[in-house]
Amino acid sequence: MLQLDHHPSGRHFLQIPGPSPVPDRILRAMSLPTIDHRGPEFGALGLKVLAGIGQVFKTRHPVVIYPSSGTGAWEAALANTMSPGDSVLMVETGQFATLWQKMAGRLGLEPDFLALPGIDAETGLALAWRHGVEPQLIEDRLRADAGRRIKAVCVVHNETSTGVTSDIAAVRRAMDAAHHPALLMVDTISGLASADYRHDEWGVDVTIAGSQKGLMLPPGIGFNALSPRALEVSKTARLPRSYWAWDEIVEMNKSGYWPYTPNTNLLYGLSESLDMLLGEGLDRVFQRHQRWAAGVRAAVRAWGLPIQCADPALHSPVLTGVITPQGLDADALRKSIHERFDLSLGTGLGKLKGRMFRIGHLGDSNDLTLIATVAGCEMGLQLAGVPLQGSGVQAAMEHFAKQPLPAA
Ligand SMILES: *Cc1c(COP(=O)(O)O)cnc(C)c1O
Repeated sequence: MLQLDHHPSGRHFLQIPGPSPVPDRILRAMSLPTIDHRGPEFGALGLKVLAGIGQVFKTRHPVVIYPSSGTGAWEAALANTMSPGDSVLMVETGQFATLWQKMAGRLGLEPDFLALPGIDAETGLALAWRHGVEPQLIEDRLRADAGRRIKAVCVVHNETSTGVTSDIAAVRRAMDAAHHPALLMVDTISGLASADYRHDEWGVDVTIAGSQKGLMLPPGIGFNALSPRALEVSKTARLPRSYWAWDEIVEMNKSGYWPYTPNTNLLYGLSESLDMLLGEGLDRVFQRHQRWAAGVRAAVRAWGLPIQCADPALHSPVLTGVITPQGLDADALRKSIHERFDLSLGTGLGKLKGRMFRIGHLGDSNDLTLIATVAGCEMGLQLAGVPLQGSGVQAAMEHFAKQPLPAA
């Protein structure tokens, strides 16, 4: 039974792929007193975070910051650019793509949901949930859309339910090859600041992100990075919007303010997070996550369990999905690991319920927290009677010992 007045000793291992563990430095920054959001000090904070977050998205164009979850930022992207009945081409890569598609339908759009057909022989799971977006399928669908009914292509960059990434530059090339004018919208809610991402260079029109994953903040900020074309289209788009409307926010952001009360203390945290990420350098941040991911994959391979991502070029640097043997309830395993070792792992979502668990390797982590995480999983698997081929802990230790991260 959960007791809210009781915390187990030591640090909880929050190894779900978001919310991620928040560094103490950020928690301290957020404990500053809340200030007047119309005062001069706030304007300076606003300008600083708006400039810094643009560097993380790699854009020279406006980034809109909402006091919202990532789901709100999904809605903002669609509501600002689409009109009732517009067709949107979406790709089924997992649960988050599925939820975004469901939202498009609820907003009065007509989602066309592409999926790789078939079932994977090794695991009996949907193939679409083990692979990334296939750019050729998008190109073919756009070429067939002679009437130009499709107004947007929407893809998830880092599918948090599976641990599979997608090649966004290749999606843009496919759209250009088809000479189709649809907007490109990308959800990188769990990818931003952990996985390489380039809003301008990849020709993305709207990028959606959130605070509680790679940015190492608590939940509560949603982002839309815009392109000039997205801003242009928003002027004539007819879906109703008010709270989410970009125009007033972008205008007031020029002086560092918002039309309504922004989440001041989370913005203190964002300012600190940007200092940490940009101070270290994004390339090194990405290398660090790649290295952690490779260490965790070495552990899963040593156990002899399949990794949810079936394409070696598309492994997520943010999380690893581990498929459990048929007949073992992955959620019962997660529950026992939580109870015994105070370690939270991600659940199998949607079509993967009960069949897999997810290990997050993002946020305030290091080699030893990840080795401990792998140890918690290994003990849990052994207690559940899962026959393991070898020790994942040993494999992770060897991986991290042999491959030091270059100095900052
Ligand atoms: C976490 C996540 C979301 C949902 O964000 P919320 O903040 O929970 O609303 C959407 N898409 C992806 C890829 C995510 O990882």
